[in-house]
Amino acid sequence: MTNVAVIGLGIMGLPMAKNLVKAGHQVTGYNRSQEKVDKLVAEGGKGAASVAEAVKDADVVITMVPDSPDVEAVVTGDDGVFANAREGALWIDFSTIRPDVAVQLAESARKAGLKPLDAPVSGGEAGAIDGVLSIMVGGEAADFDSASEVFDAVGKTIVHVGPAGSGQTVKAANQLIVAANIQALSEAVVFLEAYGVDTAAALKVLGGGLAGSKVLDQKGQKMLDRSFEPGFRLKLHHKDLNIVTSAAREAGVTIPLGAVVAQLVGSMVNQGDGDLDHSGLFKLVEQLSGRDND
Ligand code: NAP
Repeated sequence: MTNVAVIGLGIMGLPMAKNLVKAGHQVTGYNRSQEKVDKLVAEGGKGAASVAEAVKDADVVITMVPDSPDVEAVVTGDDGVFANAREGALWIDFSTIRPDVAVQLAESARKAGLKPLDAPVSGGEAGAIDGVLSIMVGGEAADFDSASEVFDAVGKTIVHVGPAGSGQTVKAANQLIVAANIQALSEAVVFLEAYGVDTAAALKVLGGGLAGSKVLDQKGQKMLDRSFEPGFRLKLHHKDLNIVTSAAREAGVTIPLGAVVAQLVGSMVNQGDGDLDHSGLFKLVEQLSGRDND
């Protein structure tokens, strides 16, 4: 049994923390708003009133918050992870943040005596609940090996992809692929509906061929039902597309498809739809064809 602190008990962090409890770990959770801490306590975890209190006895500290400034806010400062975690503790950041920020924070963590891993995940809320996330890990190989019990409790495909920051770079590529898929699927569904095709039947057969994908499996029905409860919020995907478009520009790589989808997702966020699931991109595709009043 390992003492694990989990900072950030949102759509992803709470089910991941619950799976760590189920795997037999002693889990202490901290969240900005209290009611999510209560949900963890109801499942056998412990609650903490501050980051410092959550991490002080932890062998492993997990952070799962939205964006780069949020991770910086919880790890730095007098109440933060770096100032309060035990010497030698592992720090696993499961959040999706900028690769350059991940590299800087890993350096600071090492100076504070911690062992940092950037370990963003893919697989959505369903993957977090079922404990089958894909986890792309950057950091030292020895630290990756020592984190296996924690990774095994929350994930299924767990791969060390290189030094600090590499996990975030792979995740940026992941978000490019997922956004382009959602856009293509949305266009296909609007197109099929325009021809009066039985869309449920169409998605069934498309799912069995080369057009099949996890995006089609998880998001197709949401589009048919116009059901865009998050899931993965559009504003988080907007953040991730900013990460990948700016990182690609810095590397001298041109990603025209990614740039277009980034604009479309940005448009939805600007119009107030940022809290919809990212499959809600479908709404904009409908609007562009004047089919949103059907
Ligand atoms: P979320 O539901 O918004 O949860 C984030 C949690 O972090 C909330 O409980 C929030 O507390 C807390 N928080 C936010 N800002 C904070 C701050 N500055 N200091 C302390 N706590 C803070 O987000 P999520 O969907 O779980 O996503 C978390 C990360 O996982 C993101 O980087 C996202 O890109 C990534 N991710 C998400 C999915 C998905 O399907 N949702 C899939 C893969 C990866 P409050 O309760 O006070 O708001």
